[in-house]
Amino acid sequence: MAVAEYSVTDSEGSWTRQICQIRHWPLFTQSSCLIVFIATVVTCDLILLAIAVPLTPILVRDLWTFAAFLGGAAVCVEAMRRLGSPAGVSRDLLGAWWLPALLLLPPVYSLLFPIPIYILLQFRIRRAVTFRRVFNAASVALSGFASSSVFHAVMDSGLPFVAKHGDGSTISEETVLTSGSGVAVAVVCCALFTCIHTAVMSIGVRLSAPETPWRGLLWDGEAALTDGAELCVGIMVAILCGLSLLLLAVALPPVLLLQRGLLFQQLQTAARTDPKTGLLNAATWEGEADAELSRALQSGRPMAVLIIDIDHFKKVNDTHGHLFGDQVLLGVANTLTHQLDESDIIGRFGGEEFVVLLPGADTAKAHQVAERLRARVGRMALPTEDATVTITISIGVALLLVHGRDLLELLTAADLALYHAKDTGRDRVCLPNSPGDGDAPLSEDPSS
Ligand code: GH3
Ligand code: MG
Ligand code: MG
Repeated sequence: MAVAEYSVTDSEGSWTRQICQIRHWPLFTQSSCLIVFIATVVTCDLILLAIAVPLTPILVRDLWTFAAFLGGAAVCVEAMRRLGSPAGVSRDLLGAWWLPALLLLPPVYSLLFPIPIYILLQFRIRRAVTFRRVFNAASVALSGFASSSVFHAVMDSGLPFVAKHGDGSTISEETVLTSGSGVAVAVVCCALFTCIHTAVMSIGVRLSAPETPWRGLLWDGEAALTDGAELCVGIMVAILCGLSLLLLAVALPPVLLLQRGLLFQQLQTAARTDPKTGLLNAATWEGEADAELSRALQSGRPMAVLIIDIDHFKKVNDTHGHLFGDQVLLGVANTLTHQLDESDIIGRFGGEEFVVLLPGADTAKAHQVAERLRARVGRMALPTEDATVTITISIGVALLLVHGRDLLELLTAADLALYHAKDTGRDRVCLPNSPGDGDAPLSEDPSS
């Protein structure tokens, strides 16, 4: 009896412990809108899978094709592992395998394809936060299924522009890709895949970081170029493999080479940027700021440096968790970037500190820009599960030739001004004392 009582208590304890552990999953620190959105995408995939599996005849030829594409994608993942992939959001060329699969195989295979590949990515490349990997895979699966269904529906429709045999019967997907109209439909369906996937991922990113601008998510020129190249490669692989699966051996090397080029370029960018915010990292910022400072000294133009620090950021982390803290950092970085000109140089200096160089800015202009940044960040609304969080920033400003002649002097002066802003109540912009100036530093008290 005593044993039975003990085991009940123990199992209740372990249940409670398990529920507590589940509550601490990174997914449940996200906004409820994002959780609902991810759950919806994953549920749609599962429902479609349950409907499509019994309706799809299993053909040995399809299984071979599926295995060949999986093999190609797995080789690409291994090649990524050798070269290394940048931290944060990165682009790959795996579409070179999703696209032929959606064109040459029944739609159900598009639902299955991402599962082993994203498991490989998770365990062979880098352990990403699990819900992000699942969401990514679910988005690829949903987009692949939708565009594959459209492609097969058009091919089976008997529409006049679809190539047919001499007796009027429709020809198979493999050979239809050798006709002009077949390739045109394939291009449209692959573009549809890219549009749906981009839209689903962009909604996810916006729900996770509401400050991220839509324009950067949807219309980034570099991303459009990569997507275009991926689409062309995917269709070429489909045409080759439609003719013979053995031609995969011809398709694989160029795909690997292209992926290598793409990764190399991203690694170069990653070495210059901070992965959490996408801003320049401290070393790169200093390099660029130094070059700008030399130009300003030569031309005699004014220049200002701002150091920006989020107020009481530790409390944000302690109250809402580090993941939420990271979202705040990203939100602040985006808000600051959108308030600056193209010629201004912004970087993440470390922790919750940002640094901005304003070429051509005199005291009045620097103060005006800093005040605008302070006001905009103060207006940011950051939703959590049960509240909306607002934050403030303090800014220290230093001017070239007024507070220093080189970067180190300017940064030291701006840092002193920042300390003064913190000391006098935070949420304000301060300038340091000018050398020989005995007056109190110029400061703006938002409450006054
Ligand atoms: P103050 O107003 O004086 O600046 O107070 P503060 O709490 O902002 O400053 P403090 O230096 O005490 O704490 C900075 C915090 O920033 C502590 C650290 O955990 C957090 N932090 C630093 N880097 C990161 C990061 O990359 N992500 C998150 N989430 N937190 C970070
Ligand atoms: Mg701080
Ligand atoms: Mg700090």
